[in-house]
Amino acid sequence: MTDSRNVRNTALGIFSALFLILAPSPATAADGETAPARDPKQAIDEPYTAKIQKYTTAPYFTSPLVNYLPASNTVPTPEAVLGDVAGAPGVLPYAKDVYKYMRMLEKASPRVKVFSIGTTEEGREMIAVAVSSPENLKNLEENRARLAKLADPRTIKLDDAEADKLVAQAVPVYYITGTIHSPETGAPTALMELAYRLTVDESPYIQEIRDGMITLITPVVEVDGRDRMVDIYRWHLAHPKDFYPPLIYWGKYVAHDNNRDAMGVTLKLTENVLNTYVGWKAQVLHDLHESVPYLYDNTVGDGPYNAWVDPILTDEWQMIGARNVADMTKFGMPGVFTHGDFDTWSPGYLMFIAAMHNGISRLYETFGNGGADTQERTLDPEEYSRTWFRQNPPLPKTLWSQRDNNNYEQTGLLTSLHYFNENKRLFLKNFYLKAKRSVMKPAAEGPAAYVLPTDEPRPGLQAELLRVLQKQAVEISRAKSAFTVSLPVKKEKPKKDAKDSKETDKEKKPEPTTKDFPAGSYIIRMDQPYARIADALLDHQYWSPEDPQKTPYDDTGWTFGELFGVQVVRVTDLKVLDVAMERVVNVHAPGGVKGSGAVFAINNNAEPALATLRYKMKDAGMEAAEEPFEGSGKKFNRGSLVIRNGSRADLDHAANDLGLQVVALGTVPSVKTHPVRAARVAFVHTWLSTQTEGWWRLALDDLKIPYDYISTQTIAKIDDLNAKYDVILFPPVGYFPGPTAIINGMTTAWGNPLPWKNTPETPNLVGKNDSTDDMRPGLGWDGLAKLQTFVQKGGVLLTATDTSRFATEIGLVAGVSTHASEHMKIVGSVVGTRLVDSGSPLAYGYDEKVAAYCDNGPIFSLSSIAGARGRRRLGNESHTRATGRGTADDPDFTVGRPATEAPEELTSEIWEAPPVTDEQRRNGFRVIPPANRARVIFRYADKKDLLISGLVEGGDEIAQHPAVVDVPAGKGHVVLFSINPVYRGETRGTYSMVLNTILNFDSLDAGRKLAEK
Ligand SMILES: [Zn+2]
Repeated sequence: MTDSRNVRNTALGIFSALFLILAPSPATAADGETAPARDPKQAIDEPYTAKIQKYTTAPYFTSPLVNYLPASNTVPTPEAVLGDVAGAPGVLPYAKDVYKYMRMLEKASPRVKVFSIGTTEEGREMIAVAVSSPENLKNLEENRARLAKLADPRTIKLDDAEADKLVAQAVPVYYITGTIHSPETGAPTALMELAYRLTVDESPYIQEIRDGMITLITPVVEVDGRDRMVDIYRWHLAHPKDFYPPLIYWGKYVAHDNNRDAMGVTLKLTENVLNTYVGWKAQVLHDLHESVPYLYDNTVGDGPYNAWVDPILTDEWQMIGARNVADMTKFGMPGVFTHGDFDTWSPGYLMFIAAMHNGISRLYETFGNGGADTQERTLDPEEYSRTWFRQNPPLPKTLWSQRDNNNYEQTGLLTSLHYFNENKRLFLKNFYLKAKRSVMKPAAEGPAAYVLPTDEPRPGLQAELLRVLQKQAVEISRAKSAFTVSLPVKKEKPKKDAKDSKETDKEKKPEPTTKDFPAGSYIIRMDQPYARIADALLDHQYWSPEDPQKTPYDDTGWTFGELFGVQVVRVTDLKVLDVAMERVVNVHAPGGVKGSGAVFAINNNAEPALATLRYKMKDAGMEAAEEPFEGSGKKFNRGSLVIRNGSRADLDHAANDLGLQVVALGTVPSVKTHPVRAARVAFVHTWLSTQTEGWWRLALDDLKIPYDYISTQTIAKIDDLNAKYDVILFPPVGYFPGPTAIINGMTTAWGNPLPWKNTPETPNLVGKNDSTDDMRPGLGWDGLAKLQTFVQKGGVLLTATDTSRFATEIGLVAGVSTHASEHMKIVGSVVGTRLVDSGSPLAYGYDEKVAAYCDNGPIFSLSSIAGARGRRRLGNESHTRATGRGTADDPDFTVGRPATEAPEELTSEIWEAPPVTDEQRRNGFRVIPPANRARVIFRYADKKDLLISGLVEGGDEIAQHPAVVDVPAGKGHVVLFSINPVYRGETRGTYSMVLNTILNFDSLDAGRKLAEK
């Protein structure tokens, strides 16, 4: 092996020598393309250029596009704000400094315009910077109008000739977004310098980009997280010998998952980028990341590709990706490739906004050091191996700087911009064609529309789903009258043993059926330009267990209608498009009080707004009916709210707001009720990871459910948890090294404290979240004892997925054990669950079948014997008789003795605890009394019904096992979820399982039927 340090030093020497004699090449190369070279007539900023050279660690980590900086007398370089060049060691600007520079550019040059595009959850600004010729920037609105016609071909009646005229005139928009992932720190400085180059450089290569297109740049996507990351880096610079705290919070709610929000659009950053992308009618969305050496243009990636993208787009990926690699290979830059281990199945990534809105999605992974230190980096063999798609791989070991990273980012972007500009007529035409093919979808691949019937029992959740689609710029209409569509004939699969079956003769072709929809039903027409995203969200996903791709990159299923628990009908009958309908601008579920009487009732259909109402009307007395009842001619489900002493006006106002329909009753219904109180909620997080619980916080905040946000460390410090809280939510950690990690946290046996608090060096760290002097300690054994006491004294602890494993494995409950799977693969899928105990308050408002999100959830098994491990069962055992006399169903005999009848064997369902045997009851101190046994509320569906969307392989391991269990413990309860009921804003149909636990915290045993013994 070569000593890389020596190689580097020699190479640097050559590099310096080369630089001095560097002769500018002619503008046009022999191949007819504009040469990527500087303009010899334009002066170079010598000191800046010298520093670029100094901070670049090897001559092949740069290119003729970025190894110099053109000088300007009027336009400031990034040094004006950074105090050094872009990518300099030790320099990491806050978002406000990046913005300051972009606005200096705007002030200094007519080639730059800065736009404010919204704010973050913590109120920080997001911007988009347009760089182009002054003429292009002057004519933005005219140009936008042209692009808008291409984006919506209905406006030109799908006339290709008219489109060609627009294509010839329009200036395309290429949108670049940086640092959505906060520890990936290089993009802001790369984009500052890129903006400078695009503004100032007079080389033909750059001029063509500037005159030919609009480069739009959002230098910081996760602004809250950026400022925290810069804080951490400053802390690190101030304490160079110490370990620095890991970035536990990025944005207010989620970390890495901020790049998984492009379906649900629940985060501000997603909404702001989406609005900018769609508003500008941009052709490309190119998102910058830093986790792979040295530049992986990963949109080409690997299969399976998302089924709803236009093949025109996947061809564009190949073209752009291959050319990008080729250009950088010719510069001699190692480690640039475009195939790799990223499948493009899920549309949740930020860049996928473009793929789902007829543009081109791109994502770079360059190589970052997580800060601005220059460091020796050693790669894994799989990172530096030469493969068919990476003929010039990265080096096994090298000194790497933020400047190197900035060189790669800028070189990749500049060659991309140039190639895009050279071929812009093709890409603009494709942009039009993809939109046109969306509009023509109903008659092509279909469907014609999705219909959400107006008689939906969950109008609030229906409205939520429609609002997600509206955020995605999907048009929604309402039918003016009732209508009927024909449903497609389902093809019956030929039965394998059809020959032996008598059924064959009787087999008839099933008749086509029709479906009626009432007036007012919502229609999402598929003959609209953004039909693609609606289709991708509402359709079902199927990931074959036989797929050659064995490691899905993210979720495999997400069907929104299923996860929201609302009816969505896929209609292929083109007649649906002829139904008289009107466009809907504001979707709002109807709400308010109807009827007369002083007692009010609200039907319970598991709509989360019920919980909001409970907290909003703090002083009203509310009760839940423990059985269904009728009143004022209406039927009310079990769990319906009865309100006796609320003000009608207040209730009407609140219900109107929340889309809840309240019925005034003449008399108090004669049904058993229990109080529904606004529980005092603690929400617990670890200092290991806040990624997955963040989605729970976001959901509760949206619903205006108040809670105290405390860490596991805080639990031990609270003297009496029961005095402060009724319910403790312990949502998934999202990363589970075992129950002891929650207790122990990170080691304190060595190293320095890792503070997460605001100091002069770290003014942004805490935000509106939590703080600690040292992130390392966990719950601790004292904290565990406190949790146990809390439950024993009557508190309710709710856990999900990994925290459920924690609760069972550490012994907070008796009679439930968890098993890791052996061959099961359920990778972020939508699965079927079944209601087992409709009497439980947890089940209020739910139907027999509920779709839920599962990601290899823990497999629960129940036992009625304390200390015994519930046995995981794969279906009922078949008991066959032993060898003996007679036929299969005959009793055997014992010679010389009268026959004895064996007692009937006790059987049980897989989700139940096996019945207690007489033998176990002998001195049965371990037998859990019936009232203390676990109560299964929902179970996973049978194997054949488990898959709704996504990948389910080896589902027999979890099929029929409990999915939601309520375990009495002392005077309290531990509620365990195997599914994740609150996830990425996508699973609103299962939110009420959590909210029901909160609202009925002191009546969870309601409706319970106990076993006899
Ligand atoms: Zn990333």
